[in-house]
Amino acid sequence: MKAKIVLLPGDGIGPEVLGAAQKVLEAVAVKYDHQFTYDKHLIGGCAMDASGTALTDETLSACIESDGVLLGAVGGPKWDDPTAKVRPEQGLLALRKGLGTFANLRPVKPHPDLLDASPLRPERLDGVDLVVVRELTGGIYFGEPRARKPLAGGIQAVDTMSYTDEEIRRVAHLAFKLARGRRSKVNSVDKANVLESSRLWRQTVTEVAGEYPDVELEHTLVDAAAMFLIQRPASFDVMLTANMFGDILTDEASVLTGSMGNLPSASLGESGPGLYEPIHGSAPDIAGQGVANPIGMILSMAMMLRYSLSLEDEAQQVENAVDAALSSGHRTRDLANAAETALNTQEMTRVIVDQI
Ligand code: NAD
Repeated sequence: MKAKIVLLPGDGIGPEVLGAAQKVLEAVAVKYDHQFTYDKHLIGGCAMDASGTALTDETLSACIESDGVLLGAVGGPKWDDPTAKVRPEQGLLALRKGLGTFANLRPVKPHPDLLDASPLRPERLDGVDLVVVRELTGGIYFGEPRARKPLAGGIQAVDTMSYTDEEIRRVAHLAFKLARGRRSKVNSVDKANVLESSRLWRQTVTEVAGEYPDVELEHTLVDAAAMFLIQRPASFDVMLTANMFGDILTDEASVLTGSMGNLPSASLGESGPGLYEPIHGSAPDIAGQGVANPIGMILSMAMMLRYSLSLEDEAQQVENAVDAALSSGHRTRDLANAAETALNTQEMTRVIVDQI
């Protein structure tokens, strides 16, 4: 296969972990005789420094024309002023919008040898294998009006939670299709007892479920879902939810695995290239030290092989290589306990490449 991959290393540890993922991808290319070409662009703070904007039109066009986009992370203290007109996260939001990626997939499957790294008791984590499907381009993060208004003696701030049935339907279809390849269970999370947009969510998801009689559907209120994720996380298969609820629940779910450095994500649309990035940020506290855990980025790359390039065997090969590295006791600093020796980013990457 020939494929054009856009690399967006971004800021902080982004370039370190993306460099690691590219090495693993190259090992896959050699083993399976694929030809991947790479096109590297700036995004986030470094793009702001170079061009005054977090995502240039040229970078967006390159992404749209590619077969898959790998992104490190954006942001850092240098660009942290929340009142600034241009901010690193604008690059991410513009990229998701430009690519039409309306669904964010975050798999959570703790490695059996890392259960001690989780704050939950190991028996609670037994059998946990879930994917959160978060709607990504609608809801309260994009709804209008959003404004601040002066009031007599104060200020009022307004955000709007808005969904159309079509926005809900397309992400629901994606979740049900995904469930078919797993344990055939969708848990739709909303706040239908209070919010009108959630009542439309529940109604639309129920309608879509009619087209997937082989998939079990359960509805859960978001407050209960937050509790069940801690009490009985293994009961979830595919968790489908709106933008803001997903933002919060995915961070909660990430804690189950012990380190956010391990967790990948994929952002997918109806067509076009997907966007693949680890769930962690730019980790400015460790940037430049060469100690970042590259696993979240490497597993994101595996998701690109699966979803954008339809290379299932290759994706599994990468996932098995990561599993094997962890099973044989290799740990980066964020995963190692006091008795274990920590590998740096390059050493961990080499162990994973060697498995391929
Ligand atoms: P963070 O995820 O960058 O870091 C949180 C903690 O986890 C830090 O202690 C960090 O060292 C550690 N960590 C994160 N990834 C790691 C890895 N791969 N290996 C080892 N340790 C790792 O979150 P934060 O500190 O809240 O944010 C830092 C910056 O990143 C901010 O500017 C924030 O806006 C940005 N951010 C970007 C994204 C993104 O690009 N998608 C997501 C979240 C935060």
